[in-house]
Amino acid sequence: MRAAVIGVGILGSSVGWNLARRGAEVILLDAGRPGEGVTDWTFSWVNASNKTVRRSYFDLNVAGVAEYRELAEVIGPDSWWYPGGHLRWADDPAAQAKWLGIAELLTRWDYPVEILTGEQARRLEPALTMSEATPVVFYPDEAWVHGRRLVGRLVAEAVAAGAECRFDSAVRDIGTSADGSVRTVVLSDGNSLEADVVVNATGPAAAEIAGLVGRALPMRWEPGAVTRIDCDRVPIQRVMHAPHIEIRPDGDASMVLHSREIDALIDTAVNPAELGRLLQDAVRRVLPGLDSSRIVETRVSNRPIPDDGFPSVGAIPSVPGYYEAVSHSGITLGPVLGRLLAEEILGGAPDALLADFRPERFTA
Ligand SMILES: Cc1cc2nc3c(=O)[nH]c(=O)nc-3n(C[C@H](O)[C@H](O)[C@H](O)COP(=O)(O)OP(=O)(O)OC[C@H]3O[C@@H](n4cnc5c(N)ncnc54)[C@H](O)[C@@H]3O)c2cc1C
Repeated sequence: MRAAVIGVGILGSSVGWNLARRGAEVILLDAGRPGEGVTDWTFSWVNASNKTVRRSYFDLNVAGVAEYRELAEVIGPDSWWYPGGHLRWADDPAAQAKWLGIAELLTRWDYPVEILTGEQARRLEPALTMSEATPVVFYPDEAWVHGRRLVGRLVAEAVAAGAECRFDSAVRDIGTSADGSVRTVVLSDGNSLEADVVVNATGPAAAEIAGLVGRALPMRWEPGAVTRIDCDRVPIQRVMHAPHIEIRPDGDASMVLHSREIDALIDTAVNPAELGRLLQDAVRRVLPGLDSSRIVETRVSNRPIPDDGFPSVGAIPSVPGYYEAVSHSGITLGPVLGRLLAEEILGGAPDALLADFRPERFTA
């Protein structure tokens, strides 16, 4: 079996590494450089607390969080893994009641959660400015990851296990034999590669690659803006949702900002540089010490979300050899989906965790 993994973000690198370490012949293909797609322009919060919309989706995300701890033990945490929990608080009673209600539900679902006072939260994060009485929800098992560095690690591990790489060349076509099985992958540099398995892990471009095997994969348009700022010293230790702004460290002197409220402006005439300034203003209200921070870059990316909002992971029986690994929350889910899909490709039965997220549900 020769597997061509198309797209080397968090999803593709996880599938590729899991296949290579189990002895499969793997070739990793990317139109650009590995880890430089959405995986580099995401908030990158590893969590299940924001996934209560459906119990099976929550369970998958719990498995995603747990998989990270194992991954950090297997390949080492070096410069990509940042555990330490997640803080969330609000500045209006309705939002506060909503987050406390979700925390209560998650306690019933046995998910680790603590309710702190503002004073207790400030012992964890002394730079924050919330009042002592503000309730703060703390999820101790959650984390953030540096997506691009993690992809670099997984690619290096896959190569050490025998994988080949072809970067800076897009997949333009997928050839099939008379019975519809995958046979070749054609690249924009003119080369054609033999493969009897292809994995579509192209994130926001997944519908185009699915179209190459005659499959319609409906995807949403749900863009998000992320800003990187430089500062002399990062004043916080962990990932957090403060009022109107999501904040996390990104390195020793760099932070990442995001806000769903600012995302809502993307389809209007507001340009990305202005979105970045709005994010920077919002973070300064929570962390006044960032007054002298500098915006490095703001990027708008489309979230890779299949039309019903859930992952599409597994085989399509009508195209033998074609597999999908397409998901929002791909940072949280990448490592667990990568392992489960690799096991399926290598002959295992599809895992029960994936039962609600199979690609066939989009087949008319
Ligand atoms: C604003 C925002 C915030 C987010 N916050 C979170 C969060 O906090 N937590 C979380 O879990 N998730 C979050 N997500 C979602 C998460 O970032 C994505 O689900 C994940 O990064 C997707 O990874 P991927 O590997 O599928 O895609 P990508 O990282 O985009 O990788 C796809 C790769 O495919 C390549 N490619 C595309 N077309 C071709 C082609 N024709 N041939 C070859 N290669 C091709 C691209 O070059 C790219 O490298 C967020 C997303 C956004 C936009």
